[in-house]
Amino acid sequence: MAHGFESESRKLLGRLRDTLAEEGPAQARLDRITHLIADSMRTEVCSIYLFRDSDTLELCATEGLNPEAVHKTRMRIGEGLVGRVAKTAQPVNTEDAPSTKGFRFMPETGEEIYSSFLGLPVQRLGETLGVLVVQSKEKRSFSDDEVYALEVVAMVLAEMAELGAFVGEGAALAAPHQRMEMFPGSVGQEGAAEGHVWLHEPRVVVTNMVTDDPEAETARLEEAVERLRVGVDQMLSRVRATDKDQRDVLEAYRMFANSRGWMRRMQEDISRGLSAEAAVEKEQSTARARMQTVPDAYLRERLHDLDDLSNRLLRILSGQGNETGAEMPADPILVARNIGPGELLDYGRSLRGIVLEEGSVGSHAAIVARALAIPLVVHAARITTEALNGDHIMVDGEQGVVHLRPEDSVVSAFRDKMAMQAEAQKRYVSLRDLPAQSLDGEIVELHMNAGLMADLPSLVGSGAEGVGLFRTELQFLVQNQMPKRGELVQIYDRVLDAANGKRVQFRTLDIGSDKVLPYMKPTDEPNPALGWRAIRVGLDKPGVMRMQLQALIRAANGRPLTVMFPFVAQFDEFKEARDHVHRELEREAALGHVLPKKVEIGAMLETPSMAFAPRQFFEMADFISIGGNDLKQFFFAADRENERVRKRYDTLNVSFLSLIERIVERCQEGGTPVSFCGEDAGRPLEAMCFAAMGLRSLSMRPASIGPVKHLLRRVNLAEAKVVIEAARASGVQSVRPEIREWLRGQGGQSGQD
Ligand code: PEP
Ligand code: MG
Repeated sequence: MAHGFESESRKLLGRLRDTLAEEGPAQARLDRITHLIADSMRTEVCSIYLFRDSDTLELCATEGLNPEAVHKTRMRIGEGLVGRVAKTAQPVNTEDAPSTKGFRFMPETGEEIYSSFLGLPVQRLGETLGVLVVQSKEKRSFSDDEVYALEVVAMVLAEMAELGAFVGEGAALAAPHQRMEMFPGSVGQEGAAEGHVWLHEPRVVVTNMVTDDPEAETARLEEAVERLRVGVDQMLSRVRATDKDQRDVLEAYRMFANSRGWMRRMQEDISRGLSAEAAVEKEQSTARARMQTVPDAYLRERLHDLDDLSNRLLRILSGQGNETGAEMPADPILVARNIGPGELLDYGRSLRGIVLEEGSVGSHAAIVARALAIPLVVHAARITTEALNGDHIMVDGEQGVVHLRPEDSVVSAFRDKMAMQAEAQKRYVSLRDLPAQSLDGEIVELHMNAGLMADLPSLVGSGAEGVGLFRTELQFLVQNQMPKRGELVQIYDRVLDAANGKRVQFRTLDIGSDKVLPYMKPTDEPNPALGWRAIRVGLDKPGVMRMQLQALIRAANGRPLTVMFPFVAQFDEFKEARDHVHRELEREAALGHVLPKKVEIGAMLETPSMAFAPRQFFEMADFISIGGNDLKQFFFAADRENERVRKRYDTLNVSFLSLIERIVERCQEGGTPVSFCGEDAGRPLEAMCFAAMGLRSLSMRPASIGPVKHLLRRVNLAEAKVVIEAARASGVQSVRPEIREWLRGQGGQSGQD
């Protein structure tokens, strides 16, 4: 019995394939398809509803209902039985439709006479494109076999839509990957970019959906799964026992690759006429649909793993590997689920923009994107499923929004915005050689943050006076093994060469918390941001820190050297670190190396404790650099990586500004130069308020120097201070509104923030 049904379903799929191959208008194809399905399922009615826009379905073809209703009957998602199928992405199978909950009578279709109803979502990779319905007068409940067979048909329909088989018959029939889509995400790196999609991991294009020879297809599938298993085992044997996260993922891969249920379902799909590739996609689609509804994060991750594994299997089956034959566009915008910093560096500056489905603002990839000044949007959900290689795409790194296949109105508004930014950039270039001097004559030094060789060319272009923060850990993060001392000497030497006499403040290795070196044993800490990181690691295990200090001394080779230690939380830590520098200087001298002309040793002030450190700390430090990113997170006890709590606390909160003011005073008392190098220094309004609190040195992304200088040159800092003081005295939480208002009164300035 089951066998008879399978061959019937194969016959139907074969006919559908032939229909797809026919020339002629798309509508004729859809009409023929509904006819074929009704005939094969022995029902009076078969209808196809497709999404017209994100929440309206339209009847696009029917066999059995009133033909006049085609392209006229519409329903909202959730409305009636058809809308319910679209909303829940679950089948509705009833022998008495009119008395089923949610039934909606649609007189124009003449449907009251049909009693039985079977509706299924037309889905591709977890996305519902429409609904396929069969109905009959006879009261019958469709068997599991029939539901299953129709599911297979719905899947083929979805693929046909994907391949553009129905394009040309109005909006509802457009291939899903031709519609404009907007993806809200989070800002990873500011800037706007327009270009064409380049998928980091391109999807395999499946063109053979149907088979006449299930046995041969099953054999192909089994062979491919075997290769997949061997591949996973090989990957597992290569991964280190200590790399727990990677092992977890690979163990999950292995479990799925050996799952009998997964294999059996795919074999069943093939026996009903799907090709091996289509069977893999059908399972993948089901997993994706589940992924969207599973609330448990761990399970969702595992479903993600299954999704990745399916992609691997598809690549093996189709022989497409990573190479799908596509050519990188001239203006590529990289679209990926996630990407490592090393891979991103491989693409380098060729990219116009980056959009990640996951990622995080503080991730290493984000740091690299920032270093390369490439606009980045993270958390753009579903982008890798929606975007196709070559799609037109616009990345709005100011708002954290991505427009895929934008319509003309969006394109022109976006281009206007880009032109305005280009105009502003031109204005900033003209300021390059002018000082950041306020109207009341205060000069604020503007330095840049860096971490890669790729940053250094900006030193000239941005007008920065030096490098206020060189994050040395990036070199360590982008490699698969610990760099050797000789390599570091070369890198630091090149950095100093490129700086051409300008001051570079090298920060020693700041690892731990989110910055985990791939080749170091991970520590399982309950709260890594408050854990064993930065100087704590350096002092407890001084081998790497000493090696880095030696490399810096050798690279300086007679030139001045400036070193600072991250995350100092008490005076003794700084003293101990400073002693290390002196010991290494002695050692290097004994080895016959030329010592730096001058050595300055500073501390980053990133924990509130140091605002209350003994006077001697400020006297001993050659300079202090306020690491505002960490300082703020500890001051407000709000994780800098957690979007939900991070935004809750404004930098212009009166308490935080008072803390900055206090630190500046303490530095002035000890005669210690102080600067601020957290991200906030690059935001004009914040930078201006910091300057009003007494800071005369700020370090920021090179691209921020222009905008910050532009504002500083237009304000009177003493007046700004009066505004801040008045706001503080009034008991407000943040001085932002008052400062904005004041700037507005200063000749239309509203401050860019
Ligand atoms: C900071 O904390 O402000 C800082 C500059 O260091 P990082 O962002 O690298 O932790
Ligand atoms: Mg920090």
